[in-house]
Amino acid sequence: MKTAGDLRQVLQRLNGRGYKGYQSLKGIYDLGEFVLFIDHVQADPFAPPSRIRLRISQEKAAFPAELYQVRPREIGLRDYLARQVSQAIKKHSRGRRGTGKSGLIYIPQPGQEILERSSIVVTRNYVEARLGVGLPAYGRRIAAPQAEEIFFGEIPRIVEAALRWKNVDHQECRRHVETAEDADSLRNQLQERGLVAFIADGALLPRASGIDPRPLSRERAVLFESPPSLRVTLTVPHRGPVTGMGVPQGITLIVGGGYHGKSTLLDALAQGVYNHRPGDGREYVVTDAQAVKIRAEDGRRIEQVDISPFITNLPFGEDTSAFSTEDASGSTSQAANIIEALEAGARVLLIDEDTSATNFMIRDHRMQELVAKDKEPITPFIDKVRLLFQDYGVSTVLVLGGSGDYFDVADRVIWMVEYRPQDVTERARQIAEKYRAERRPEGGESFGRLTPRVPLPEGIDPRRGKKPVKIKADGLESIQFGYQEIDLTAVEQVVDRCQVRALGDAVYYARKYMDGQRTLRQVITKVMTDLQTHGLDVLSPFPHGEYAAFRSLELAAALNRLRTFTCRQRR
Ligand code: ADP
Ligand code: MG
Repeated sequence: MKTAGDLRQVLQRLNGRGYKGYQSLKGIYDLGEFVLFIDHVQADPFAPPSRIRLRISQEKAAFPAELYQVRPREIGLRDYLARQVSQAIKKHSRGRRGTGKSGLIYIPQPGQEILERSSIVVTRNYVEARLGVGLPAYGRRIAAPQAEEIFFGEIPRIVEAALRWKNVDHQECRRHVETAEDADSLRNQLQERGLVAFIADGALLPRASGIDPRPLSRERAVLFESPPSLRVTLTVPHRGPVTGMGVPQGITLIVGGGYHGKSTLLDALAQGVYNHRPGDGREYVVTDAQAVKIRAEDGRRIEQVDISPFITNLPFGEDTSAFSTEDASGSTSQAANIIEALEAGARVLLIDEDTSATNFMIRDHRMQELVAKDKEPITPFIDKVRLLFQDYGVSTVLVLGGSGDYFDVADRVIWMVEYRPQDVTERARQIAEKYRAERRPEGGESFGRLTPRVPLPEGIDPRRGKKPVKIKADGLESIQFGYQEIDLTAVEQVVDRCQVRALGDAVYYARKYMDGQRTLRQVITKVMTDLQTHGLDVLSPFPHGEYAAFRSLELAAALNRLRTFTCRQRR
């Protein structure tokens, strides 16, 4: 291992030279209080920052083992420390100095979710933070004094402030870790209690704005209050008993007037697959880990999906048991989204009328009279939702203010009135008795078969120009994959840019398990198992801090949206 002296010497020698000289910094340096890894050096001052790791031994860091010995706590602690490092950077770094990204010190900023993040690693032996650093230059000339200031001034101060137990707020840190553990515990209890979701009384669901996921201010928010008939109490390790609304398995309908908080509730359920930071308002709002938000997504591509449970007899006899299109309609895209989610292991569907295709959701009596069944390719969701539960045990939570026909198929009807849920199941039943729907069910006796697909490796091609692998992901919306663009705008449960990063690389990684035999489900399971055993680092040729964990369902969603993705069906 090289020493601090070595680093200083090299820097002094490099001062004023061409930027390429920085390449010789690559290596491992013992800086006394911590070890500095320079893993990857940027090619020029405008390129993405160089990657470094700061590793401090547990003898010095001294985090109590109980804070990371079990998995949910370890994830909570790592997430907390990522936030601490981010704050410490704001406090101790001078920021940019020089050309391009010169002088920038960077760690991805966590949002509302507590996620496994590759930016922090905690083991029995050490704590490691992974940062980006813009190695400083003026023009293309190396600015060594500025680099020294970073490596010997700012970075040691960041390590000292954020990565030593004695310098972090013990109470706040414990609360973060325990919040994550409590949420996991709640989620783990759902199935045995026959629930698909739980929303604690006092939860704050609305967000600051449509583009700001932080909580709406407390003065303006109506806190969640469970209706007595759906109230359950679950016990978690730290907070003890938590009371709230349990959403039972089966079919749950959320009705109510416009602007009464239906979509806000459903969005909270969609995000309940993740744990949330203290103060978020949704710390004790949890949903089955395999719940998927489903929506219409016209224009998307579909590859060899058996959508025949919902759609048959297309004009010109197009085959819907192995349906492909470059440009799906609203209804076919929504059908494909459901079938693909089931293929990837969804246990709960979350559907909002706001983002659904009307003709996919409902076909009423009068329309049945006018347009005979054999002239309508779509079997609406209303006729399949029960069969889906009956045949495959998949529950649905549905926001629908516009059609009472669903009363006939719902196990539970929740009415949102001024942001407060009421259980109106009985009344809805009476109304359904009194005003019999004249529509005829069109769904048949069973949901229909799910046909597995086998993905082929040639569909995954990350080449671009001279680069054998070009995968880029800068935001939440899309991944640049070779010459392709994977559009994730309709994949609502992707919440963190680092998840998108990881997903992009995971799409490529998944290729190695595509052998023309394994089904998509099996391929994805392989990838997820590798991630569980070896961590997020398996996705990258060198360790960096730009990944956050994602679910198998989102990996499936990303693959399904790659426009070159190729499959054949296994029948
Ligand atoms: P709906 O889907 O029933 O039409 P939304 O869920 O879109 O209604 O909510 C309408 C508005 O009310 C949104 O601006 C939302 O932020 C706000 N809102 C939702 N729930 C609450 C609440 N519990 N307290 C205060 N405002 C809320
Ligand atoms: Mg709505």
